[in-house]
Amino acid sequence: MNEEKKSLNFIEQIVAEDLKNGLDKNDLRFRFPPEPNGYLHIGHAASICLNFGLGLQHNAPVNLRFDDTNPAKEEQEYVDAIKKDVAWLGFEWDKELYSSDYFQQLYDWTIELIKKGKAYVDEQSSDEIRAQKGTPTEVGTDSPFRNRSVEENLALFEKMKNGDFDEGAVVLRAKIDMKHNNMHMRDPILYRVLKKSHHRTGTDWCIFPMYDWTHGESDYIEQISHSFCTLEFKSHRELYDWYLDQVVSSENIRPKQREFARRNLSYTVMSKRKLLQLVENGIVNGWDDPRMPTISGLRRRGYTPESIRNFSDVSGIAKRDSITDVALLEFCIKDHLNKTAPRVMAVLDPIKVIISNYPEGKEEFLDANYNDYEDGFGSRAVPFSREIYIEREDFREEANKKFFRLKLGKEVRLKNAYIIKAEGCIKEADGKITEIHCTYDPDSKSGSGSEASKRKVKGTLHWVSAKHAIKAEVRLYDRLFSDEAPDGHKDKNFLEFVNPNSLDVVSAFVEPSLKTAKIGNRFQFQRKGYFCVDSDTTEENLVFNRTVPLRDSWAKVEKK
Ligand code: ATP
Ligand code: MG
Repeated sequence: MNEEKKSLNFIEQIVAEDLKNGLDKNDLRFRFPPEPNGYLHIGHAASICLNFGLGLQHNAPVNLRFDDTNPAKEEQEYVDAIKKDVAWLGFEWDKELYSSDYFQQLYDWTIELIKKGKAYVDEQSSDEIRAQKGTPTEVGTDSPFRNRSVEENLALFEKMKNGDFDEGAVVLRAKIDMKHNNMHMRDPILYRVLKKSHHRTGTDWCIFPMYDWTHGESDYIEQISHSFCTLEFKSHRELYDWYLDQVVSSENIRPKQREFARRNLSYTVMSKRKLLQLVENGIVNGWDDPRMPTISGLRRRGYTPESIRNFSDVSGIAKRDSITDVALLEFCIKDHLNKTAPRVMAVLDPIKVIISNYPEGKEEFLDANYNDYEDGFGSRAVPFSREIYIEREDFREEANKKFFRLKLGKEVRLKNAYIIKAEGCIKEADGKITEIHCTYDPDSKSGSGSEASKRKVKGTLHWVSAKHAIKAEVRLYDRLFSDEAPDGHKDKNFLEFVNPNSLDVVSAFVEPSLKTAKIGNRFQFQRKGYFCVDSDTTEENLVFNRTVPLRDSWAKVEKK
C-alpha cells in the first residue's frame, strides 16, 4: 500500500527550496521563541508544531528560546509552564536558551553601531518621538538629537547603562532614515531604560534591548537558519535584515525570516494580554481553567497531545489570517478519544429505578467490556442490584414512537445487563418524578456466553447500581464566549461577550470501577461524552471535567 504523501505547506516549501538551492542540510536549525509573559495557547501550538515538525522532518535541532526582554511582564512561572507545555505536546528542544543571556553581546554590538554613527541617544519624550514618526503617507521628522557626535552618544549611552537616567527620559535609537517608506525603519528604538528586576538578570541591567533588535540578533547568535514568525512581523522584516546587516559575517549562517498567519479559533480570544485579563478578573479559575484555549487548560480539560498535534496538522499553515472553527478542534479530540478512551457508565442527572421482581439484598457482578468494538481494552465487573439510577431524561410516562428509551409499559435494555419494563412511577405534588418502578426479565441477561440472551429491544440505556455507585462532581463546560469572534468588534470590549453559563456543575453517580481512576485519566461516559479526572480530585471528592459531549448515542445508532 502506498503511503499517502502529504503535500508540503508553504513554509516547508521554503525550506525545501533552500535545500535545493544549495543550503547544507546540516545547517538547518529552527527555534520556537515564546515571550514568557503568559501561558501558551492553541495558537502557539501551531508555531510549535511547525518549528518542531520541521526539526523532525529534517533531523535538525530546534531551540526553545525565551524572548525575555521585558522585565515588567515576565516571570519564572511562565517559563516553567511553557517548558511543561512544549514537552507535553511531545517535542524535544535541542537547547533551552534565553535572549537575556545575550544582553552583553547585544550591548557590545550596540557600542559598535554607535561608533559607526548608526545609533544615537534621543532625549525627547515618547510622545514627541511618536509625533515625529510621520504616517504611512507622510515622512517623519528628524530628532534634534539625531546628529550628536559619536563621543557624546557613547558617553550618554554609558550613563543610560549606569542608571543615571530615569525611565522614559532617554532612549537609544538606530539612525536609519526618517523618510523611509517603511515606518519601522524610521529610527527605531534600540534600548530603553527600565528600572525593574528581570527574572534572570536581576538588577544587572537597567537598559533593555527592544524586541526587534534582540530577536534577529538572537537568531544569528544561535545560527538559526529559518526564523518563522507570524504575519504581524512581515513589515518588520526589512528592519530584521538591516539589523543583521550590521553584524553578520559571511562565513556564518544568515537567518531568514518568513511569516505565516496566526491561528485564530472561533468562540475564544488568543492574545495573552486578554487571557491574562480573564485570569485577573476572576472570570476563569486560572490559566489552566478547562475553558481556556491555553495548552494547560486544554490538557486539564482532557485533550491529548496527539489531538492537538493532529488539529495543527489538519488546520494547516496559512498565508492569510482566518478563523479556524473550534468544531475542528473538538472533532480531533473526539476522534482520538473514540479510539483510546475506555467506555464506562455514569449517570449525570440521576433518577432512581426500583426493579420490583429483583430479590432484595441480591447483587450480581456483570462482565462489561471497556469497548465493544475494539479488542485490547479489557473488561471490568459492573455490579447490578435491585435499585439503580438512570438519566432523568431517559424516562417518560408517555412518548411517541421515536422515543427509544424507557416509557410506561415498554421495555429497554440496560447496557451489559437485563431488559427492564417500566410499570409505574412515583411523583411529588408538583409532578416531579422521584422513582420509577420496573420489572426485569431474568432470562434477558446480555453477554457473550451460552446463557446470553438474544432478545433484542429498541433502546439501550446506561445506568449505575444505586448501592455501589460513587458520587462524583461533574463539571460541564460550554463555550467561554457567546460570540464567534469576541475580540472582533470595534465598538465593544471582548469581555462583553463572556458566556455567563460556561460552567455547570452537577452531582452525578458513576460506576464503582472509577474509584481507582487517577487525575488525568480519560473515559467515555457512554452516551454522554468524554470526561477526565480533574486535578481538584481528593480522596473524598471525585471530580470530572467534560472534555467534549458525544452527539451520537446508541438510541440513534440502533435505530438504523
Ligand atoms: P500573544 O499575542 O498571544 O501575546 P505573542 O505573539 O506575543 O502572542 P509570543 O510568546 O511572542 O506570543 O509567541 C511565540 C511564538 O509563537 C512567536 O513566533 C509567535 O509568532 C507564535 N505565535 C503566537 N501566537 C500565535 C498564533 N495565534 N498562531 C500561530 N503562532 C503564534
Ligand atoms: Mg510576540
